[in-house]
Amino acid sequence: MKSPMGQVEEVLALAHFMRLRVLSISISLLLASFSGCIGDMGDGGLFGSDEEDELFGIPGGLTLACLQSSKFTNMMIEIDYTEGYEPQSQTLSTLKSRIESVCDKPGGVTIKTTQTDFGHGDIWSPDDVREIGRDTRETQPQDGSTLRWHLLFPNGSYEESGVLGVAVDASTAAIFLDDVRDAEGLFGRPSAEAIENAVTVHEVGHLLGLVNLVYTSPADHEDSDHPGHSNNENSVMYWAIESGDFSSFFENDVPDDFDSDDRADLAAIAAGDLEVVEQLWS
Ligand SMILES: [Zn+2]
Repeated sequence: MKSPMGQVEEVLALAHFMRLRVLSISISLLLASFSGCIGDMGDGGLFGSDEEDELFGIPGGLTLACLQSSKFTNMMIEIDYTEGYEPQSQTLSTLKSRIESVCDKPGGVTIKTTQTDFGHGDIWSPDDVREIGRDTRETQPQDGSTLRWHLLFPNGSYEESGVLGVAVDASTAAIFLDDVRDAEGLFGRPSAEAIENAVTVHEVGHLLGLVNLVYTSPADHEDSDHPGHSNNENSVMYWAIESGDFSSFFENDVPDDFDSDDRADLAAIAAGDLEVVEQLWS
């Protein structure tokens, strides 16, 4: 989904981003080329105060809060959807089971779905998802002992064509079901339901910091041409999951689970054996 030139630019932009974060300079324009399904990886200054920036962070900024239970014992996944865009029950149960399989939440993981009028048109930028996400979420991500992540299922499409979902900050992602439905394969192979399932888990995988968003894996499983994604087509974090190009999955099931490298990364972060950065809480 990106040209070779664009891929180089993405890597350079990310390195640039890490430096500028330290200087607290707004860098969102420089990172426009890193859009795609990980948003633009930062919002420093866009919404004003440092407190807001600190509160919302970047994808992966609340992975430790999910993987460990010392502060957040409970988790709430708030799902807001436009009428006609409610996620399938299978998507919800898969998502819950994937989160429970990697995060330590003795008080449980709860999913709450609410029909919402986002009051927005058909094209979504990362800033739209970020801003409208903040306007529509019930409360802040760090809510006492409850960690709250927020998924939007709006009508319309992402501004970059062919992108089925986007993670825009440490706790917010959107899944674009119009495009998920358009990506359904010939004779329903793979089905829109299977793609919805995969894309939803994929975006939450980004909120968990996969792949290499807030750490550096000891395993060589990040796709060099698609930063932030897996090179294993059996992982839900495989780069093509975001792209809407499911032709390679015609014969096979679309993966909706993390692979052993993804899980090893998360386990090492949870255990404190792998350094993790950009955390909003630690
Ligand atoms: Zn992605």
